[in-house]
Amino acid sequence: MMSNSVLDAELDEFRASTKKFVTDAFAAKAAYWDEQEEFPAENRDLLAKLGYLGLVIPEEYGGSGASIAHATVFLEEVSRVCFNTALICQLALNGPSRAIEILGTTEQKTRWLPKCVSGEYMFGIGISEPGAGSAVTDLITTATEQGDGWLVTGQKAFCTGGEQATHFLVFARFGKAAGAKGIGAIVVERGMPGFETGHAAPKMGGRGVSEVDLFFDNCHVPNDNVLVPGDLNSTKSFRVLMNSFGPERVGNAAMCLGVAQAAFERAVAYSSERTQFGRPICEFQGIQWKIADMALQIHAAKLMIMQAATTLENGFPRALEATYAKLYANEMVQRVTNEALQIHGHYGYTREFPLERMVRDSRGFALGGGTTEILRNTVASLIYGRSFDQRRS
Ligand SMILES: Cc1cc2nc3c(=O)[nH]c(=O)nc-3n(C[C@H](O)[C@H](O)[C@H](O)COP(=O)(O)OP(=O)(O)OC[C@H]3O[C@@H](n4cnc5c(N)ncnc54)[C@H](O)[C@@H]3O)c2cc1C
Repeated sequence: MMSNSVLDAELDEFRASTKKFVTDAFAAKAAYWDEQEEFPAENRDLLAKLGYLGLVIPEEYGGSGASIAHATVFLEEVSRVCFNTALICQLALNGPSRAIEILGTTEQKTRWLPKCVSGEYMFGIGISEPGAGSAVTDLITTATEQGDGWLVTGQKAFCTGGEQATHFLVFARFGKAAGAKGIGAIVVERGMPGFETGHAAPKMGGRGVSEVDLFFDNCHVPNDNVLVPGDLNSTKSFRVLMNSFGPERVGNAAMCLGVAQAAFERAVAYSSERTQFGRPICEFQGIQWKIADMALQIHAAKLMIMQAATTLENGFPRALEATYAKLYANEMVQRVTNEALQIHGHYGYTREFPLERMVRDSRGFALGGGTTEILRNTVASLIYGRSFDQRRS
């Protein structure tokens, strides 16, 4: 279940070297990207140069072929230091390129993955639509066969990194089937006629990496860019696609862990130094219990995340562990960052301390990649062994 001691030792070493690298490279400007709402392009360039964007991509495609556990540790450590840079890493490690690695043909992998590793290509993902968020299978973007390719028409919402991405993995309906039937995925490239990206709406957290709308108007995409053709007679193509995002949930949880750890460490340090009533506030039981509860929740999240990573690594097709990990970590990080801010008193509320940024950054986790309500639906479905139709009959 958990990793063995050899793996633990190797992972510990990897964690230590990652921690040093990300602290040296990314800590100084972590607040800057948030304040300026600027994409940390220089950090992405450095990650590409050092091969980190290809951490989990197989060696035959230019990556390092590291395990899901390595990706998890890496995301946690980057997120602890610079959340906006972690968003870039999550997209590269567990986003569309992971789906391509799992589902793509050898020709597609050879064409796209080495350039993801080098940083030349950046993939965004277009699943959500203005009218289809949690209800993914309500999506209405279509891919219609024409000649040697497909005409894509529709609109996508909230595409992370969409301002910078060069390629977009777009979920679309390949024919007239309804619901989950007929949903497949196709790669649309920036610059293809009939495709435009929209503007980024100002937002609460993760402000260095924006989400944008994608607009497709009879955009012609060659057949070679179809990752998974929609199956009109079954839900299989949709299920295969969704399953390829298991690592994304674990990575999302790992980022929560990183933000929570950073807030927790600051709360411990501050409560040791801040004096009220003539003594450090850590000597009050009320503060000690907050710190103990924070530590407990961080530890629980860590165990769930490592178990989910190990389960995925071993190829068990189980959604439960990854769902538990994301659900628990998404709510844990909100509680922990809030308590850390509380321990800092008014100082925590100011922009001179990073706590308010951490509170803001922690909020989006429970929405993106499946809301915590939808994750609870998944857990319930897995417990009962049946899916509950959410639709009015
Ligand atoms: C930071 C961030 C990054 C994102 N990046 C991407 C991206 O790169 N690509 C992409 O395609 N999408 C992305 N998304 C979109 C994300 O997947 C959607 O926000 C999410 O699926 C929810 O959809 P919605 O926002 O339309 O909310 P809705 O689906 O409208 O839900 C509104 C509320 O109702 C609840 N709800 C809905 N149905 C049920 C139900 N059956 N039972 C109980 N409660 C329910 C939801 O949980 C939520 O609280 C991102 C979102 C965020 C916040």
